[in-house]
Amino acid sequence: MSLNFESFIAYARAKNPNESEFLQAVAEVTEDLIPYINQKHPDWIDAKILERIIEPERIIIFKVSWLNDQNQVQVNRGFRVQMNSAIGPYKGGLRFSPTVNLSILKFLAFEQVFKNSLTGIPLGGGKGGSDFDPKGKSDMEIMRFCQSFMTELYRHIGAETDVPAGDIGVGEREIGYLFGQYKRIQNNFTGVLTGKGKYWGGSYLRPEATGYGLLYFVQCVFENMDEEVAGKEICISGAGNVAYYATEKAIHLGAKVITLSNSLGTIHDPEGFTLEKLAYLKEIGRELPKYVDRYKTAAFYTDRKPWHFKCDIALPCATQNELNEEDAQLLVSQGCICVAEGANMPSTAEAIKVFHKAKIHFAPGKAANAGGVAVSGLEMSQNWAGQQWSSDKVDGKLKTIMNNIHKTCVKHGKEEDGYINYLKGANIGGFIKVAESMLAQGIV
Ligand code: NDP
Repeated sequence: MSLNFESFIAYARAKNPNESEFLQAVAEVTEDLIPYINQKHPDWIDAKILERIIEPERIIIFKVSWLNDQNQVQVNRGFRVQMNSAIGPYKGGLRFSPTVNLSILKFLAFEQVFKNSLTGIPLGGGKGGSDFDPKGKSDMEIMRFCQSFMTELYRHIGAETDVPAGDIGVGEREIGYLFGQYKRIQNNFTGVLTGKGKYWGGSYLRPEATGYGLLYFVQCVFENMDEEVAGKEICISGAGNVAYYATEKAIHLGAKVITLSNSLGTIHDPEGFTLEKLAYLKEIGRELPKYVDRYKTAAFYTDRKPWHFKCDIALPCATQNELNEEDAQLLVSQGCICVAEGANMPSTAEAIKVFHKAKIHFAPGKAANAGGVAVSGLEMSQNWAGQQWSSDKVDGKLKTIMNNIHKTCVKHGKEEDGYINYLKGANIGGFIKVAESMLAQGIV
């Protein structure tokens, strides 16, 4: 007996109708896992390892009622998807955005299982959030929402059960309000969330970790072809946590970042961002058009994505499915040689096919953006040990972890002609440990 990709996807579609993002993630992973299982582990077919790994262990959906500044009642929906705990407690971020729905959180939780496994730290996979829109809300509204959200979530999480972190719309401020409410209810100062502030249990370098880790991974890709990142032109999308720290590290490494973007549009600065320009961008927040008033050589486009500009390296760092087939063709035709995902699943399935066909280096988010969860894992270790490590120590560990993830991808993704299929490498490398642990723990 052997597994068949089309039949498996038909099974997944029937079980998860209308969950397009989740099905996209399942297809992206199982396309590589099915040939691997058929060839190396046919005994895993009867054990229904794939059917089990795509089924969340638990999904919690709850009401979040709160009062806005006008004392009007607001109602949102909260979620936590506890996907897989075979190798450790559930771990994964919380996303606050009106776009949040179950399909998106299931895809993120599923990807998180493989990503966390790749870090080498014993962490299971989960994800959660709410359809709450933090944009335009006052600080007190954010606090009241976070307190109401945690008043239900607290009973489902714990330092050894499930440890959420931030994601889109959830930064240190939100983690602070969530942590404060958890502590008030439980009367327990414990590492139940990561991304905490540096004075109250947080790790140095957690804010920087995803963006820095992304560049460390890109460095490995270039070293592997005896090249360097210095001097390369980079297009980055997004203007949030991941995009900013990716830009900062790229500047440290001597590369030139020429775009950043948000939902208003794209800044193209042909002279490249500097640390001073980056500080100004942080000051203006979402108002990206203000940048071109100060820096006259730059232009702001409402109708062009970062992928429309010529570059050597493209780093999508905004959101899922932001880079489509047409964008991918444009990148390849203009000479881009490496695409590494800072965001989760920013490239569509069709875009990935274009990269693979052109044999350019494509590093999927589950490998390239794993630096964030890796330092979250280090934050948990520091909390358990009652310690706080120096920035240099955390940075050294982050580099080692990204290096090891790169090695794992090369080990499992190198094809006969020498091309490294990083997606295949990450899928198989992340899967083996989780599958073996699930099998060892019986049918649960
Ligand atoms: P932030 O909320 O800090 O920033 C997100 C940025 O992306 C904002 O500039 C936002 O613009 C932009 N953006 C979002 N949606 C769109 C869109 N449809 N079109 C154009 N721009 C858009 O989030 P993060 O930087 O933390 O996360 C970015 C990505 O990285 C997500 O996919 C996340 O899951 C992933 N990630 C994050 C990690 C972390 O440690 N933070 C870890 C691993 C992955 P605007 O403000 O206009 O909406």
